[in-house]
Amino acid sequence: MTDRPTTETVYTGKPVVPGVAFGPAAWVTERPPLPEPGEMVPEDRREAEFEAFTRAVDVVCSRLEERAAAAQGHAAEVLTATVTIARDRAWARKVRTSVRGGQTNLYAVRQATDDFVELFLKAGGVMAERVTDLCDVRDRVLAELRGEPEPGIPDVDVPSVLFADDLAPADTATLDTALIHAVVTRKGGATSHTAIIARQLDLPCIVAAGHAVDAVAPGVPVLVDGGDGTVTTGVDPEVAVQKVEESRRRAAAVAAWTGPAATSDGYRVQLLANVQDGHAAREAAASVAEGIGLFRTELGFLSATTEPTVDEQADRYAEVLSAFPDGKVVIRTLDAGSDKPVPFVNAEEEENPALGVRGLRIARNNRALLERQLDGVAEALVRADRSADAQTWVMAPMVATVAEARWFAELCRERGLTPGAMVEVPAAALMAERMMPYLDFVSIGTNDLTQYTMAADRLSPSLAHLTDPWQPAVLRLIHETCRAGASTGTAVGVCGEAAADPALGCVLTGLGVTSLSAAAPALGAVGVALGEVDFATCRAAAAAAVNADGADEARQAAAAILAAQA
Ligand code: PEP
Ligand code: MG
Repeated sequence: MTDRPTTETVYTGKPVVPGVAFGPAAWVTERPPLPEPGEMVPEDRREAEFEAFTRAVDVVCSRLEERAAAAQGHAAEVLTATVTIARDRAWARKVRTSVRGGQTNLYAVRQATDDFVELFLKAGGVMAERVTDLCDVRDRVLAELRGEPEPGIPDVDVPSVLFADDLAPADTATLDTALIHAVVTRKGGATSHTAIIARQLDLPCIVAAGHAVDAVAPGVPVLVDGGDGTVTTGVDPEVAVQKVEESRRRAAAVAAWTGPAATSDGYRVQLLANVQDGHAAREAAASVAEGIGLFRTELGFLSATTEPTVDEQADRYAEVLSAFPDGKVVIRTLDAGSDKPVPFVNAEEEENPALGVRGLRIARNNRALLERQLDGVAEALVRADRSADAQTWVMAPMVATVAEARWFAELCRERGLTPGAMVEVPAAALMAERMMPYLDFVSIGTNDLTQYTMAADRLSPSLAHLTDPWQPAVLRLIHETCRAGASTGTAVGVCGEAAADPALGCVLTGLGVTSLSAAAPALGAVGVALGEVDFATCRAAAAAAVNADGADEARQAAAAILAAQA
């Protein structure tokens, strides 16, 4: 937090969706207080007590179902998923057991939820992310049982900025963007529901903004910049309105931008899309993406209990390849484990799965699994409907040693495939020069590279200040990788979330990265930012960021240099 000479106060959080908004702070309606154990319910009233609980669940579910029917896409899926949690039989059974033992239904709901929260947190990863959903269901049912209004989004009549601890998925799913112009939350990370939905709604969003959430009272006008993660109070309303208009002009320029990307002096940068299946690949093909820079194959396997056959895999991969008949497609082999456990692969519990047997490490004890996947890719190349000279590259996740890179490259070359490695472990960045002779390319996974460089769990909202790809330590490893790429003539791309940040895209270009791969909707803003500056400015911004003391300083130093030319 910094005080300016004026009355402005700037709070920072983690920026997840760019865009500027100005309006009074509106607070999500308070969650009901958690019940304490009440007097024992007499035996003859216990059945009625439990029936009241089932009725409350029914009311909550039918409200959510109604909203799901009126919503579309991911919003509808999130609402339906919340209903599934509310209808969970194991949860209801726990409530029934407590009520039959004499607890009030209110306390029984709290107890049952506490038990599941503990279980989910122990499981970690995506299960831990469901805790917010579960607590949301609990609070809705508690409010219904007490005859109180449903907790959640407040009714506002002027365009406002929504403040919350964290948004429950069911709330974010039906935000009215005519009245809610930005979202600021205390919790959440780049992959939380709040971030995903805000991205889908194109709603400026900042998460992990504890200082702002603590300090800003309801009704106080705030200027939110989802691009740099700042929440400012005390701004002159005229200045704020100008900033909002400038941001709208920029959004219009982004919408009109058609690519391909290059700096203002013509230095080309490939903009590619991250996808998980054929549907996303076709959507990417309809966007400004020139190809696919990261096909996360494991996402198609997350619920598979048995390994798909080579034939099934070939069909899936061919569908993605066919979406870009002439463009580059980079297929990543299975990155199972950690936050993406695949049932048929990661059977064993690990104490510390992010540092465990994940990515290419799985293939050490299960080489046949990797070989079958590479066979699937080779077969997909035969089946896909694309031109003979369209590039298809294959890369391994979580490569840490030269030996791993060499081994993977050999398996690929035996099948006529073009091999590369992801650089997402600091060891790989430091050894890139030694690995590159075996590879045709590397792609830097900044999500994991940041997690492992900063020793900070990428899913932890309280560590968002560390899991920031602007951290100069991360930029230095990227710089090292680019230097190795230049000296060995190996292409270096970036395929983590960092590639979606327009200013960081310019910095990465200045460091020597020649392709940026991100979610397709984010690419236009990156292309516009690149087109506003020349290559020398990108290099100057990169040097300033690498030499900064911290992530915020790096962001500000680069922004000042880029803005001077834009
Ligand atoms: C990364 O780590 O940056 C990356 C692109 O891989 P994933 O996010 O799938 O782990
Ligand atoms: Mg990764």
